Amino acid sequence: MMNEIKLKPCVCGGNAVKIKIFSHKRYDCFYRCDKCEWQTKVYVSPQGAKNAWNRRADDEQRAD
Ligand SMILES: [Zn+2]
Repeated sequence: MMNEIKLKPCVCGGNAVKIKIFSHKRYDCFYRCDKCEWQTKVYVSPQGAKNAWNRRADDEQRAD
């Protein structure tokens, strides 16, 4: 069963947009904010990209 990870809103209030790129015969993906355009690194798995996005949201909230 797939474990759905909920995406947190960006620290600027924007939303994460999933971007797929086809490279090396597979799809990589990352998330980008639709407002401030901050983006995660590129990940092989959507899960990894989601985690990276949420980690960043957590970090910035703590720093506030
Ligand atoms: Zn943003």
